Amino acid sequence: MDRPKVKKWQEPASIDAYPLGATCDSDHLVSINAGWRTFKPVIDHDKCVMCLRCFLVCPDGVIDKSGPQLEIDYDYCKGCGVCAHECKLKCITMVKEEK
Ligand code: SF4
Ligand code: SF4
Repeated sequence: MDRPKVKKWQEPASIDAYPLGATCDSDHLVSINAGWRTFKPVIDHDKCVMCLRCFLVCPDGVIDKSGPQLEIDYDYCKGCGVCAHECKLKCITMVKEEK
């Protein structure tokens, strides 16, 4: 999965230049953050029906749907559990990370 490119911070010229609203184009993780994750999501591919709900709700866009089954990019998954919470078929289990 291609990661978003790191953008150089441009100091806004005025308060009017700051982004407004719930979305802006700086909301992607750009550095590996798996080190501080306590739980990681594990998909049961036998139960998954590829509805893509988890893909749509993952706040960091780390679920890859380009292959025959979903893959989670664990280098960037922060373990928030939103995907597991939102899967209606309970196909995603949050598993405690090993030390
Ligand atoms: S929400 Fe559940 S059933 Fe839907 S694609 Fe994700 S893991 Fe599969
Ligand atoms: S645990 Fe959070 S960051 Fe990781 S795949 Fe699920 S929704 Fe995305």
